[in-house]
Parts: sequence; structure tokens; C-alpha cells
Amino acid sequence: GGSLNIYARLKEIMDERGINCSLVLEKEPHDESVGVKKSGCHGFCEMGPLLRIEPMGWLYIKVKVEDCEEIIEKSIVNNEVIDRLVYHDAEGAAYDKQDEIPFYKQQTRVALEHCGQINAESIKEYIAVGGYSAVAKALFDMTPEEIVTEISESSLRGRGGGGFPTGKKWSQVLSQDSEVKYIVCNGDEGDPGAFMDRSMMEGDPHRVIEGMIIAGIATKAHYGYIYVRAEYPLAVSRLQTAIDKAEARGLLGKNILNSGFDFELKISQGAGAFVCGEGSALTASIEGNRGMPRVKPPRTVEKGLFEKPTVLNNVETYCNVPPIILNGSDWYRQYGPEKNHGTKAFALTGNVCNTGLIEVPMGTTLREVIFDVGGGVKGGDFKAVQIGGPSGGCLVTSPTENHLDMKLDFDSLKKVGAMIGSGGLVVMNDKSCMVEVARFFMNFTQNESCGKCVPCREGTKRMLELLNDIVEGRGTLEHIDLLEELAETISATALCGLGKTAASPVISTLKYFRDEYIAHVVDKK
Ligand code: SF4
Repeated sequence: GGSLNIYARLKEIMDERGINCSLVLEKEPHDESVGVKKSGCHGFCEMGPLLRIEPMGWLYIKVKVEDCEEIIEKSIVNNEVIDRLVYHDAEGAAYDKQDEIPFYKQQTRVALEHCGQINAESIKEYIAVGGYSAVAKALFDMTPEEIVTEISESSLRGRGGGGFPTGKKWSQVLSQDSEVKYIVCNGDEGDPGAFMDRSMMEGDPHRVIEGMIIAGIATKAHYGYIYVRAEYPLAVSRLQTAIDKAEARGLLGKNILNSGFDFELKISQGAGAFVCGEGSALTASIEGNRGMPRVKPPRTVEKGLFEKPTVLNNVETYCNVPPIILNGSDWYRQYGPEKNHGTKAFALTGNVCNTGLIEVPMGTTLREVIFDVGGGVKGGDFKAVQIGGPSGGCLVTSPTENHLDMKLDFDSLKKVGAMIGSGGLVVMNDKSCMVEVARFFMNFTQNESCGKCVPCREGTKRMLELLNDIVEGRGTLEHIDLLEELAETISATALCGLGKTAASPVISTLKYFRDEYIAHVVDKK
């Protein structure tokens, strides 16, 4: 709301003063008339609403409607930076250029490179920054096998949580002998506090589409679906606009770019059930059935959507594909440790100074993320981060462990019982109660359990009851034992990932903060 009001006011003033801003939405890339345009998310949420003045690259933070007159007068007419609107660090140093602000400087933006930079509703702007040239390269200069090899050699792994090698998945679908195959994009993103995929769909929808078209070329699939939760209406409308514009330019539909290759793309809206992020529940939902997981095998690559071989990747994974095709796998492998190459977007929230959306090379340490990019812990000392959402675990500073120098990548986190998940990263200071944190996530999971299998349907309810008792002062040591027993049983017997990982926040908080559980119970002595 704040940004839209500022946008409207800037346009109003420009109209009043006769400054030409008529070419806002479909401005030619090299048109030098002054305009004001909406972009996607810049990521620096803590400092919003944000406004950047181009071509100087000045970033104004916490902009108010009342600032608009001065911005036009000083920065647009007189070319002066307004010091009070630029970012100042804790020591008072001013940073007028966006790229020099520590929050941005410490990041490496690959998937997010255009978010906050281009007008998401303009295909011209996307093309002007090199958009769709990876599709052209994939169509005219590469065979499907070569595309799959390039993706495999980049070591891109699924950014939705599982970390499965993308090239391997694509190669399995390419090898299926089927006339009909599907490319599906998981834009369901249900983790509380996570908004990476949303920002990419809203801020750079053509990038998602381009990644999906390349997946289609690589696997000889001609149909695609983007599954987006209906609670993301801006993402839905920007994706639809992008699909329409890509079709109008011959980049989607029959015979794309006169290559003889067809690729049709549709949006399917989900009702916001967390379980629909699970592959088989997601495809069931697109088919019009109730979104419930099924037993595997068969796997999605063999029998996925409408029982046909299906590539299912999430938004961020597809966003990484075009630059890999354009720049090559060696370029991508410069980022991150072996088998964990590339970058990862995180939603940085909780007790941290710079909340927002960030992207860093895989293998960046937790300390670098919290203190260099995030500007440090707010309201106390660092205690823990909850990473990976309801399926994830905690990284901590405790008397027995210190994970601050832990590298954030798939394999390092797995070793300590945590996971990257889709990239939710909630920072907690030393005043946070970890039993409350565990209860919050258990409450979420229990609400989102689809009810198909007993261990998850009943087990999460019982675990929540036990946690409620402990937090509200009715718990005993037996409650803690029972929690552990149930956690083990549910993890071992639930049907899908939601149930299998439902106990993770409890297991990890019990491991590192058992004393906090004991402090809550009535029979601790
Ligand atoms: Fe449904 Fe939970 Fe069973 Fe998954 S584990 S199928 S969410 S009841």
C-alpha cells in the first residue's frame, strides 16, 4: 500500500509539472524521458518503501508520500541526492548507492538478479536484460541431451527443499518414452515467513517462464503448469500478463520462435494448503482432485501429472536455469562448495536488524548471513535460527554447540539435523522461548496435516497437546518422554514429507534446549 501511494503521488506531481511520464509501463529500454515505474521486490523489507533513482542508482529508504515533492525537485530536476533518505549504518555512515549498502554488497544475486530492477509487466525490459536468449540458445544451438548435461554439470539442486539434482530429474524425464510429458512449477510456497518464490513470480515472472520452457525443450515436454497459491494474487496476475505477452511474441504456444517446438503454459491456482507443496498432492490438485499425497513409487518423473512423466521443480530452481544455459555450468560452479553449487535465496526474518529477502552463495556461513547481510541480531544476543520452516530444525549457540560458522548448504545442514528447506530463516535472540517456537511450528503442521494417514493426523495432535501442557505449566517429565517417543514414531511411519518432518522443530529444540523444556515442567525436581 505504501509503495503504491508513493507511485501515485510521483505520477501526479510529474503530470502537474509537465514531466513526461507517459511511457512508464512499456518504456523502450533506451528511452531517456523521465518516468516512474513499479518494480518487483528489492528485498530490503526492513527499510521499505524503497525508491531507486536511475541511472544514478541512489536508493531512498522509508519513503513517505510527503517526500515525493522534494524527490522530484531535488533528485529529478536538480540531480541532487537527498541525504536524509539514504541508508545510514549504526555508526552513521551514509550510503547513497544501492549496490554499496552492506545488505546488498554481501549478496550474490542470480535467481533474484532482476527483482527490483525491471518492470515485471514489461517483456521489453526483460528482453533488454538478455531475457529469452537462453531459450533461443537451447532451441537452436543445443540438443536436449546437451541441455540436460549442462544442468547436471552445474550441479543445480532443487531449491524447494529436497535438494534433488535437477539434471538427474530432467534426464529421467527425457528418457521416458511418452508422447505427453509435463513441466510443472511449484509456486505453492507455504512455509510461514517464506516469500522467496512469491517475490520471484511477482518481480521477474518471465524468468520463471523461461526456465520452464528450457525444461520443456530439454525433456521434450510440450505442456506446462505453474501451480500458485491463490493467496498470491499479484503473482498470479503478473504471471498471466507475462504468459500473454510471451505468447504474443511467439515465445510460447505453437512453433515457438519458428523452431518447430511447441510449448503451452497455464496457471493453476491452489487454495493454499501446505501439503500441496508435496509433489503428488500438488499434481492431484492440478488434476482437480483433493490435494493429498499418494504412496510412491511410481515417482513423478515416471507417472506424475495426469499419470504422465513430469518434471516438477520449484520457482527458484527454474529461475537459475536461464543463466546456467547462457553462461555455462562452469560459471555457475564458481559459487558454493562441491555438490552444492550456486546461490540460495533466503527470507531473513525474526530478531534481525535487516529483515528481507536475500541471496547468497551456497556455503555462506550463518554468521555472514546474520551479521554482514542482516546487520546483526535485534533486541539481544544471538540464540538460534530456525531454518527450513516447519520441516526444518534449529542452528544455535548453546553451551554445547555453536553453529554460527556453519556453512549454509544442503550437505552441511543435513549433518546437524537441519535443512535449507525452501529458505525460511527465522533469527531468535536470547529472550526467545524455544518451547514456544516448537509449539508454533507444531500448531502449524497439525493444522496443515491432510489427515490421510494416522501417524500424522493423530500424532501431531497429541504432540501439540503435550506442547500446550508444557508451555501452559501443566507439563511433567513424562510429557517430554512422550514427545520424544511420538516424534520418533511419526517420523518413521508417516506417509509423506509433511508428516515425516513434522517433529523436526521439536527434535532439534529438545536436542539443544532440553533445559528450557525442563524449566517449564512442574516435577523438575
Ligand atoms: Fe497427509 Fe500428514 Fe499423512 Fe502427509 S503425513 S499424507 S500430510 S496425514
